Amino acid sequence: MQIAVTELWNKCLNIIRDDISEQSFTTWFSPIVPLKFQNNTLTIQVPSQFFYEWLEENFVSSLRKAIDHTIGRQGMLEYSIIVDKGDRKNPPLSFNLPTTNQNPSKDFINQQAAKSPFQFKNLDSLELDSYLIPKYTFDKFIEGDCNRLGRAAGMAVANKPGLTSFNPLMIYGGVGLGKTHLIQAIGNEIKQQFPDKFVLYVSTEKFTNQFVNAIRNNSIEAFTNFYLQVDVLIIDDVQFLSGKEKTQETFFNIFNHLHQSGKQIILSSDRAPRDLAGMEDRLLSRFKWGLTADLQQPDFETRIAIIQKKLQDDGIQIDFEVLEYLAHSIQTNVRELEGVIISLMAQASLTRKEIDLDLAKATLKSIVNEQEKELSVENILEAVTHHFSVDLSTLQGKCRKKENVFPRQVAMYMLKELTNLPLKSIGYHFGGRDHSTVIHAVQSISEAMETDKTVEKTVKKLFNRFNLNTH
Ligand code: ADP
Ligand code: MG
Repeated sequence: MQIAVTELWNKCLNIIRDDISEQSFTTWFSPIVPLKFQNNTLTIQVPSQFFYEWLEENFVSSLRKAIDHTIGRQGMLEYSIIVDKGDRKNPPLSFNLPTTNQNPSKDFINQQAAKSPFQFKNLDSLELDSYLIPKYTFDKFIEGDCNRLGRAAGMAVANKPGLTSFNPLMIYGGVGLGKTHLIQAIGNEIKQQFPDKFVLYVSTEKFTNQFVNAIRNNSIEAFTNFYLQVDVLIIDDVQFLSGKEKTQETFFNIFNHLHQSGKQIILSSDRAPRDLAGMEDRLLSRFKWGLTADLQQPDFETRIAIIQKKLQDDGIQIDFEVLEYLAHSIQTNVRELEGVIISLMAQASLTRKEIDLDLAKATLKSIVNEQEKELSVENILEAVTHHFSVDLSTLQGKCRKKENVFPRQVAMYMLKELTNLPLKSIGYHFGGRDHSTVIHAVQSISEAMETDKTVEKTVKKLFNRFNLNTH
């Protein structure tokens, strides 16, 4: 009996939907068209090569799970990629690719391993899973002033694990600034240079869960023994150890043992050791034995380089104008920057448009969160142009007439107060003025607000539009 392909695909979608975020589901699964189901093979149509690669890289396990549940282990997935949209006369040209994951059991073995990583007795280290993600390499980790020390120390450790004075190496920094990437890169590099070493990456959360399970199953000894075999222990986000006394105690013992045996330990944390609360002093003092290096927000040039690299890796070229716009508009962290680039590539691939300034602006607008959307450059400039009845082009232009200079300075002042854009980026949004012009504007308005009640009132009124008060 012929199973209706749409029905089959809908079943798959229901399984996938539970696995991934709503946004990912809409972006990556809504555009897929199920084509046929034959010989246990489901063929789905995707809009582009990029789309296919993205699915394979990010959602393969969810896809596999869906196929297993609906067709069974022998089920296969085949992609049909549209290379030409065609028109009414000529049907779309497409080619088929079987999924790269044709070994359905592979994922399940990995999942099993994840559940009980310390039952490995008969395997040698080559077969042990390091939980390293291949794409996180040094090569892909762009160097800038923001990460120079951490990167260099990481390289040194990778070249001589356990033999430098950087033991432990502790990398700390805010969210999305590259901690996981960097410590994974160290692991990957060590694996490359010393294939026999047992490198293990583990998140603190996972470590804690394993520990809790080990207590429950009476297998603390197996747990500890497992960790004592590791040559390079990479433990991510140690701030999550805070307040967990028992886990800390066990970690402390493992740490000491490994350290004494000359094994390398690499840690990451979202804050400096001195700011880690709820942590035993003896453990904290161990963290400071080696080298502590922080990762900071990348500066403008580094952001440009990061975007360039990401696009280059995907074989995409964009105008410098677009690069500049993105680098000036996303300041928060690299993960966000990356998110925008990925959405941009998805948009461009879906709509078959070039990535240009308009597309970049539209994409950015659609993905920043509500709070940021409120306080976006566009909204602030709009509030000012509206209030003073000036054109946007005049506000951003060069005209030195007093009736234009004042609103312009107010707009600069507001951007400075309401966003975290650096001066240089604020200047960029006013026809590329330099940072001293922005400083001057901010000072003039601050002074005027103190001496002139009407100026103060005007600015306050504008701030009130954003439900904020001047301080
Ligand atoms: P953290 O662990 O600090 O929260 P991640 O390591 O997960 O941050 O980094 C977030 C994203 O930004 C990752 O995809 C990472 O590859 C990317 N990233 C961060 N810093 C850099 C950098 N210097 N060069 C290239 N990519 C970077
Ligand atoms: Mg991380």
